[in-house]
Amino acid sequence: MVDMETLVSLCKRRGFVFQSSEIYGGINGFWDFGPVGCELKRRVKDNWWRTMVQWREDVVGLDTSIIAHPQTWVASGHVEAFSDPMVDCKKCKKRFRLDEITTKVCPECGGELTDPKKFNLMFQTHVGATQDAESIAYLRPETCQSIFTEFKNVQTVSRLKIPFGIAQIGKAFRNEITPRNFIFRSREFEQMELEFFCHPKESKKWYEYWVQSRYDWFLSIGVRKENLRLRPHAKDELAHYASGCTDVEFQMPFGWSELEGIADRGNFDLSQHAKFSGKDLDYYNEETKERFIPAVVETSVGVDRTCLALMIDAYHEEEVKGEKRVVMRFHPSIAPYQAAVFPLSGKLREPAVKLEKELRKYFTADYDEAGSIGKRYRRHDEIGTPYCITYDFQSEEDHAVTVRNRDTMQQDRVAVDQLVRYLSDKFVG
Ligand code: ATP
Repeated sequence: MVDMETLVSLCKRRGFVFQSSEIYGGINGFWDFGPVGCELKRRVKDNWWRTMVQWREDVVGLDTSIIAHPQTWVASGHVEAFSDPMVDCKKCKKRFRLDEITTKVCPECGGELTDPKKFNLMFQTHVGATQDAESIAYLRPETCQSIFTEFKNVQTVSRLKIPFGIAQIGKAFRNEITPRNFIFRSREFEQMELEFFCHPKESKKWYEYWVQSRYDWFLSIGVRKENLRLRPHAKDELAHYASGCTDVEFQMPFGWSELEGIADRGNFDLSQHAKFSGKDLDYYNEETKERFIPAVVETSVGVDRTCLALMIDAYHEEEVKGEKRVVMRFHPSIAPYQAAVFPLSGKLREPAVKLEKELRKYFTADYDEAGSIGKRYRRHDEIGTPYCITYDFQSEEDHAVTVRNRDTMQQDRVAVDQLVRYLSDKFVG
């Protein structure tokens, strides 16, 4: 398995991920996705959206504001309880999460530690011109709470009957005490969340359904089975209102780690918001004449963690003719670029660009004329482009191009007017 140092360096070199504000020395826990990384991220989000919303009749989307009414976070319990106990070193002043240190003295310098203090992970800001207790607001630490506060609006306008879900992709912020492991634990990240509302008697069934379906999704975007596992939480790990929770875990270089959590949350969330807002958030079933607060099954996955898992899973090194070849074997559905077009010489730019433009109508395509063909192959192997297409002098005569397969390195001569078909068949097959 690739080590983190090698991956971080590839990410920087090829434009997947940069340290945020690097020219100022960086800022801990924040990352920027470069031209290739943001394509990867987009593929992941589009794929999730298609699977969770577009292809389903029982799920609709939502896009809510990052800052919500501060009572939202009182009702959800975050103001009171969203904190990790922390200790400071009296000598070197470093701060640690209590559950992450095994020693009673500072793991860095051996200094004496303070008593544990609670530290809320929500970022605070002020809304409006005055900065007082009244104007405090929070950057959301998860995207789902506004799905609950919008439950009634969405249900009314979409006229969906239970069971149905509301999905959202968006940024979340947590002032993590020890951001680490590259983009695995950062202070600003993206989540893709589904809240699936059902009758309380059916929540177990839906919970099991979603655990399986989320696991299958990771396989469908190419994650290797041996690197993936489901970990059901033990009873004492569960929140008091939850009756089941399972994590989808991936084998990272630093151990098995959570990518996604699926939880049967009962009707805790809607009940809390109904209580704190004084608004009625129940559901009336016209057929059975039953009125009840729906139960919720939640699926919550990090985009950044998924991208990290995909990159680790895809990374391969091999020796070809005595040279090291690094290749990212991304599944074609999430590869940043599906195809790249190379003119053999600068003189062939015009027909090559024309071909690239045509391919862009159907695929995500890149164009590259810098350096030798070998160099261009190496670059595209490292960003995981499944097919590289070379337009050469003979192409002018035979109206065909050379298509090179990233994984087998096999080359096929394909007629230009058959190229879209050829590539489509490969991606489907
Ligand atoms: P952890 O135990 O690792 O802190 P969590 O259980 O608090 O995670 P959740 O609150 O369940 O995480 O959030 C759902 C998902 O959001 C996680 O599975 C993860 O993919 C993502 N996520 C949470 N915190 C972070 C973070 N600091 N950086 C990147 N992704 C995160």
